[in-house]
Amino acid sequence: MVKFVSVQNIVDLIQANGLEPFLQRLADYVEADFRRWGLFDKAPRVAAHSRDGVIELMPASDGNSYSFKYVNGHPKNPLMGLQTVTAFGVLADVDTGYPQMLSEMTIATALRTAVTSALAAKYLARPDAETMAIIGLGAQSEFQALAFSALLGVKKLRVFDTDAEATAKFKTNVGWLDLDIAYAASTEEAVLGADIITTITADKQNATILSDNMVGAGVHINAVGGDCPGKTELQRDILLRGDVFVEFPEQTRIEGEIQQMEPDFPVTELWQVITGQAAGRKSRDQITIFDSVGFAVEDFSTLRLVHDCIQGTPFYTDIDLIVAPDDPRNLFGLLAPVAGQGAGEGFHP
Ligand code: NAD
Repeated sequence: MVKFVSVQNIVDLIQANGLEPFLQRLADYVEADFRRWGLFDKAPRVAAHSRDGVIELMPASDGNSYSFKYVNGHPKNPLMGLQTVTAFGVLADVDTGYPQMLSEMTIATALRTAVTSALAAKYLARPDAETMAIIGLGAQSEFQALAFSALLGVKKLRVFDTDAEATAKFKTNVGWLDLDIAYAASTEEAVLGADIITTITADKQNATILSDNMVGAGVHINAVGGDCPGKTELQRDILLRGDVFVEFPEQTRIEGEIQQMEPDFPVTELWQVITGQAAGRKSRDQITIFDSVGFAVEDFSTLRLVHDCIQGTPFYTDIDLIVAPDDPRNLFGLLAPVAGQGAGEGFHP
């Protein structure tokens, strides 16, 4: 049997653990996997592009377990009442190749994206950073606000979205969090005085959410929304002024902000900073940019945590996904007519 973790199961699991403690545990799992980066079998995700979006498969393996995530990105979906991003994932045993767990990953993706952003900022933002601007108040935004608050103590936010409904939704959702929030009338106003700028908008184009003149010395930019060919948020000049940190260069050069740059544009891999093999922030005035696109190892960590957490709980059901005949070679026997019932009459729709 394969363990199936539904959307409701994930919600119940997180509520049973507490949202902030769950985020903290996820942050520990993601950081632990970044620390053993070299062990992983890694590849850029496989993307199927269409006019309005993309569908992607994201595999990773540490040699013991294998995972993949199915995820889409369709910025026009909200106009039809649908999510921009949805996902599910599988964790499998490498020795047998058998899947162990099938899980929802739309909520899990929002959590792991926010946790990875906070992890990057822990190593790259100024240690005394206390104010973050968030540009784009869609489905991912509250997760970012919560992760930076819970994991880094960033309690002051300056936020902006072009859509008043998104802003109202954000306001309602973060009402119970211990945050000091300024609602700005423009991106320019939101980024004023911010130590960290998170861009998390959705538009299938090379947008200029942040232009060079908006970015002051010493700012850390958490650029999350540009994650697909032809879909970026930062003006190119910002990348020339700052130092860029990435998850997996082979994927980020295709999908991230640095798709705007030459193929040999210098970047530093986040795992190298986390393990002390490369420098993160070198001075107070340095502009650091985390060019986040979302990488399969982060999903692997998330599935690993969910799998560990559900053991002995009611937060999953067993599903009959894999055949199990008594004799493994007798697959056809599963289709053989039951003795005495003949071959059946056939299926007539
Ligand atoms: P969403 O559609 O729910 O929200 C996007 C928001 O951006 C909307 O509220 C929209 O009004 C706002 N927006 C668009 N243009 C804007 C502008 N010029 N200024 C201010 N606000 C603007 O999308 P989401 O699910 O929150 O995802 C946001 C982005 O993050 C998407 O592009 C998605 O692909 C990306 N994403 C990245 C990762 C990663 O790991 N890097 C993970 C998940 C999602």
